[in-house]
Amino acid sequence: MANKPNILLIYTGGTIGMIKDYKTGALKAFDFSQIVDKIPELQQLNCIIKSISFDEPIDSSNMNTRYYADIVSIVEENYTNFDGFVVLTGSDTMSYTSSAISFMLENLQKPIIFTGSQLPIGDLRTDAKENLITSIEIASARKDNKPIISEVCLYFEYKLYRANRTTKISSEQFEAFTSMNFPPLAESGVHLSFNLHLIAQPKKDKKELIVRKDLVDEIVILKLFPGISKQVVKSILNISNLKGVVLETYGAGNAPNSKSFIQPIKKAIEKGVKIVSVTQCKSGRVIMGHYDTSLLLKEIGVINGKDITTESAVAKLMYLLNKNLSKKEFKVFFEKSLRGEISEK
Ligand code: ASP
Repeated sequence: MANKPNILLIYTGGTIGMIKDYKTGALKAFDFSQIVDKIPELQQLNCIIKSISFDEPIDSSNMNTRYYADIVSIVEENYTNFDGFVVLTGSDTMSYTSSAISFMLENLQKPIIFTGSQLPIGDLRTDAKENLITSIEIASARKDNKPIISEVCLYFEYKLYRANRTTKISSEQFEAFTSMNFPPLAESGVHLSFNLHLIAQPKKDKKELIVRKDLVDEIVILKLFPGISKQVVKSILNISNLKGVVLETYGAGNAPNSKSFIQPIKKAIEKGVKIVSVTQCKSGRVIMGHYDTSLLLKEIGVINGKDITTESAVAKLMYLLNKNLSKKEFKVFFEKSLRGEISEK
């Protein structure tokens, strides 16, 4: 590695890359190749920064699995020439996107830091500069000549999180993300302090990066609520080609235990649909069989999502469904941590 780390900024869209036209007041995307001119502070960082932008930057509401593949392709093509990556996306779906990217890249040895902002980079009170500058610093950070981070992370408002543990919690506050079931990997204050014991370490036997671009998107999130109609549940589970369901259950994984609710779920599982139980609670985990109202789900073969987030469960389903796993293997793989997304207890 050269003395200064090479960092690639990948701009996909979102508020962070916008500036206000002060004459009209409208937000517009700016030419991202001029990022270093727009933020002269970047020159003070001890790294070499290059940037690449989607031809047509998108609002993250338009994110999809095709764009996920584009992001990992950019990482793949530039993997040997860069020491770290900072991916800029809109914050709205950043937890979904960054979770998916964490599964799509296996044996990662370099940092990939997702960030964005609540206010455009040109705004006087913007959070974009701090988020961007610190993300680049984190992507460049080294210890014993090795990157401190070698996993997919999300940095926002002074905290670095494992990406596949995050959820967007505010559409207004600068502190837009949280990670309820796993502590931050680093915090930025006067010092940038890393919680080294929490950070994933790459495998010792320097394995090659494996990139997987094919994801399965025939899945659905089904959130329970008291009074949910059996007809609705049945219709959703009967969607042709449906491959996976993230079932947002109550509390520690509970659901109605009436036959009319359980039967369609059982049938779907028998047909090969993979159904994962995750909790609607912001923190905590599913413990199947803890209450009578989760025992039946366990018995009919619902998979235990433990403390995974909904965003990460969606990503993990998309990833694992493409692997032709048997029912038993699928359950084993889903229920164990592949990229630090689940706490195994
Ligand atoms: N709507 C924007 C997006 O997610 C918001 C943001 O950039 O934070 O693309």
